[in-house]
Order: sequence, then structure tokens, then C-alpha cells
Amino acid sequence: MTVCTLCGRKEAIFGRSYSGENLCGQCFCRTVEDKVRKAISKYEMLRQKDNFMVAVSGGKDSVTLLHILAKIEKVFPDVSFCAGTVDEGIRDYRDEALKIAEKNCQRLGVEHLVTSFKEMFGYELDEIVQLIKKKGEGGLTPCSYCGVLRRKALNTLARDAGVDKLVTAHSLDDVTQTMLLNVAHGDPMRIARSKPVLNVIHPKLVQRVKPLCLVPEKEVVFYAYLKGIEFQCIDCPYAQSALRNDIRDMLNRMEHKHAGTLFTVFRSMEKLQPAVEAYVTETQLNDCKLCGEPTVGDLCRPCKMLQELKVL
Ligand code: SF4
Ligand code: ZN
Ligand code: ZN
Repeated sequence: MTVCTLCGRKEAIFGRSYSGENLCGQCFCRTVEDKVRKAISKYEMLRQKDNFMVAVSGGKDSVTLLHILAKIEKVFPDVSFCAGTVDEGIRDYRDEALKIAEKNCQRLGVEHLVTSFKEMFGYELDEIVQLIKKKGEGGLTPCSYCGVLRRKALNTLARDAGVDKLVTAHSLDDVTQTMLLNVAHGDPMRIARSKPVLNVIHPKLVQRVKPLCLVPEKEVVFYAYLKGIEFQCIDCPYAQSALRNDIRDMLNRMEHKHAGTLFTVFRSMEKLQPAVEAYVTETQLNDCKLCGEPTVGDLCRPCKMLQELKVL
């Protein structure tokens, strides 16, 4: 039997290859919670009296983060939080996720606010997909619409709820993939912005923070398994093979061969970010002519996309 490196008493059930630790269930869970606490303190994600919303999709990362925050909320006694979900309107997928999100919120006694694409934009994602098909080849993918519209919907939900911060459940894997994806896209503005705490660039945009940024996805899943947390396991029917998937596979292969790669890439990008930020000039934000949301040009991206589908 391999004994836990930390307590030296119980049997180890998790090998953390990047640190060389072998951990029992209890020590493993404690260290995951510590990583979340550390990210919150290191990046000053939450301040006293902060009121925040956790974006909960019903998937493993968001539901697990909700449970961890409910547990460590006691460490930050003056903060309060609720959960927010966007129902994109994906039949046989999001409806199940929504129920799981609701169940977890009830279990934890967390207020749960829900909005939908239908309510906010007049169309469910399923309907948008039909319109994309009608438009024919060469258009954007369902994920492109979904990502852009969800970002706006979540921001509106959080702003209307009057919260100070919007907490998203991006794990170390997600954050690192996004960093490399932005490099692959050659987009310095996005490289400068892919940080654990986004800069406040407009009063209408709720600040986003990512307290899971120091926790590898594998550990999020194992934490959920050990704690018996219920989350949605099926994949979205529109999930597709995109550049992000190739970057994910590459990083996973490197992490497997060279333990610690994810952390190394994350830290390297962190060191480079101030230089990129200094290089990128602040853009002037205007009000979108159609919806009034902040945007670089005349129309915000969601309005432009919906207009191209001829639904605005
Ligand atoms: Fe939306 Fe694509 Fe994610 Fe499905 S896989 S929820 S369409 S972003
Ligand atoms: Zn132990
Ligand atoms: Zn707009």
C-alpha cells in the first residue's frame, strides 16, 4: 500500500505526477480546495462584501466549483453569491443540465437565476442552427453563435442581478488552451485578456474571475467523483472538432509525457502578458446601435451575427 504523502496515515488513491505527491481522498480534496483559495487570494478575485454570481452550466467544472465555493465561503465571511445559468435551447442536452444545476443549487441552498437565448434574443440555439443550415456552407458554426450569445446573456444576467463579479469555472486546462488558442489565432488583444481576472474595461461589463485556474481538469473530475457531486456527463450534440480540440490533445499528450507542462505554459503566459498588454492599445468602446451594449464598432458581435442570420 502506498501511504499518503501529506498525512502519512491513509492509503494514497491519487498520484499527482507534477508534484510527485501520492494523496488519500481527504488530503486530495483539501489540496484542491486550497488551490481555489490560493487563486482567489493570489489574484485578489474576491474582496470583502463582494456579491458574485457563479456561472453554472450543469457540467462537471461549474457544479464542482459551486460546491467548493459554498464550502470555502466561510473563509470569506462577508461575500455572498448566487448561481446563474443560461439555457441556450439545445434539446435533450441543456434541459437535463439545467435540472442538474437546479438540483445542486437547492442542495447547497444557493439562489439560482436562469435566463435563456429565447428570452434574450428571441431564438433558441436549435432554431439558430436551422437558420445556419438554411444559409448553407461557409457560415459560422453553432459553437461560434453559442459562445458569443452566451457571453452576452451571462453578462446581462449578472449585471441585472447587481453582482460585482461573474465567476466562471475555467480549469487550468481551459485557461491554458485559451492562451495557446489566442497565440494560434495571432490575436494580441485576446492574449492580453486571457487572464484569471479580467480587467474592468466598461461599467456595463461585469468583471469575470476564474478561481479554478490552478486546478487541472483531471483533479476537478476526481474531486466531483469523491464528493459524489452530480453533473451532466453527455456531450453537446453540436460539439465539434475545432482548433481548441487539437490544442487540448497536444497539451494532454505533453502533460502525460512531461508532467507539469500545463502549469509551465500557464506561468510562461502570465509572465508574457504584461508585455503584450503594454503593446496593445486601449480600444475605445461605443454603445451598440441596436442594443446599447459596449462594442468596438457600431454593432456588437451578437447583434451583427443575428443580423447576418436576418433575425434582427
Ligand atoms: Fe454551445 Fe458548442 Fe458548447 Fe454546445 S459545444 S454548448 S454549441 S459552445
Ligand atoms: Zn492523506
Ligand atoms: Zn448589440
